[in-house]
Amino acid sequence: MRKGRVDYTKLRQRMVEEQLISRGIKDKRVLTAFLKVEREKFVPKNLRKEAYEDFPLSIGEGQTISQPYMVALMTQCLKLQGEEKILEVGTGSGYQTAILAELSKEVFSLERIEKLAHKARRILHNLGYTNVQIFVANGTLGWEEFSPYDRILVTAGAKEVPLPLIEQLKDEGIMVIPVGDLYSQKLKVIEKRGDVINSRTVESCIFVPLIGKYGWDESVKNG
Ligand code: SAH
Repeated sequence: MRKGRVDYTKLRQRMVEEQLISRGIKDKRVLTAFLKVEREKFVPKNLRKEAYEDFPLSIGEGQTISQPYMVALMTQCLKLQGEEKILEVGTGSGYQTAILAELSKEVFSLERIEKLAHKARRILHNLGYTNVQIFVANGTLGWEEFSPYDRILVTAGAKEVPLPLIEQLKDEGIMVIPVGDLYSQKLKVIEKRGDVINSRTVESCIFVPLIGKYGWDESVKNG
């Protein structure tokens, strides 16, 4: 490696081995997607060298790109086979969106901050993804037009599971969502079987707040 040049491929492989496989991420398709998607493209230029570190990074507007392990864990919990229609709430950097796009048929992603949505849209377009649509919207209301969804992923901390999201989840569908207070949450996997909603906790986590109706009030400010 030339002096000053960062070998991102090597960093990516190391991240997969040391942060994902070692912590129990087993889904082969998930691991392959993590080896492929160039995470450094989704972080601000001055933080690129840290793109593969084991923590979240700031992406501006008070928001973060989630820790790689958390992105992998949430993705694995969705049990994707390749044919799913997914609703993602909280596009942020667009990195998780790219991972989902690699592993499913189509992704609809909602982001409330216009600047982030535009940036993510541009990056995903430049990387050649054609199965992703990003909308600027309050994601706690879901996006009825394309519902029901096989999978729903929320990447901001909710105080409760927003009712519209349960309604827009397909029967036999899976939703992954962090639920808790402002400072810590539990990652929940919710499965819908007719009228029965099963919920289990997978992990403790810390996400920026999910803002809006069915979420936190905008005045919490760190959102
Ligand atoms: N998966 C993203 C996580 C970004 S952080 C990544 O790894 O980059 C969570 C994002 O959710 C933030 O960009 C925030 O603006 C957004 N968000 C919070 N509440 C929202 C809401 N009600 N609707 C849509 N997006 C929301």
